[in-house]
Amino acid sequence: MSTLTQVTEQARSEGRTVLTEIESKQVLAAAGIPVAEARLATTPDEAVKVAGSVGYPVVMKIVSPEITHKSDVGGVKVNVKTADEVRAAFEEITAAARAAQAGAKIAGVAVQKMAPQGIEVIIGMSKDPQFGPVLMFGLGGVLVEVLKDVSFRIVPIERRDARQMIEEIQAFPVLQGVRGQDPADIGALEDLLLKLSEFVEANPQVAELDLNPVFAYKDRALAVDARIVVGGVA
Ligand code: ADP
Ligand code: MG
Repeated sequence: MSTLTQVTEQARSEGRTVLTEIESKQVLAAAGIPVAEARLATTPDEAVKVAGSVGYPVVMKIVSPEITHKSDVGGVKVNVKTADEVRAAFEEITAAARAAQAGAKIAGVAVQKMAPQGIEVIIGMSKDPQFGPVLMFGLGGVLVEVLKDVSFRIVPIERRDARQMIEEIQAFPVLQGVRGQDPADIGALEDLLLKLSEFVEANPQVAELDLNPVFAYKDRALAVDARIVVGGVA
């Protein structure tokens, strides 16, 4: 059974269609997509154990089926550097989530390695009633939210399409490196888009997918947040 099938069955048995970040990343990693893998900790001590095995510094995030925008509720702590900080962050994250959303079911806290800062891009997939799965590419943050500086292609795509998606956004020069910043590895971003295209084509039960953000480095790309929504098709 594929990882996606397993994870989807688990989610459905709990009445969920939105996979958690941990589940989404498991599925994507199995499909060969580079992600910062996250592990669930249900207690502060467990979080310390996970942090010790992935290595400091870590990033910690709330895991709750009812919370999708984790930082909006104070549910993300980056650059957590010691066991004491992990314990404190665990308490702060869960308390903040409870305060923001009383009664929210909290599964625990996801612990992952802190990735070095890269150029933030976002990659998504949504389903158009007419055209089916459509991939989206853009630079992260304000550029996407305010300026809608994004490109789209209908799945499946070829490498040439991936290249064009990346080159046609207004902010493309940022990916080529500005003010002495390293240029992004465009080939790695193409690979990621191609792998996602294959993944959504092979898995029609994936209704929606967000990698927000993906860090683009000079020699690779890495998704540090992921969300998959599964639909009706089994
Ligand atoms: P949200 O649910 O709010 O979108 P994210 O998982 O995207 O939460 O985390 C918020 C921000 O924290 C990201 O935009 C990114 O800048 C940073 N971040 C998240 N995960 C990592 C990581 N593994 N390494 C470094 N920075 C991270
Ligand atoms: Mg995010």
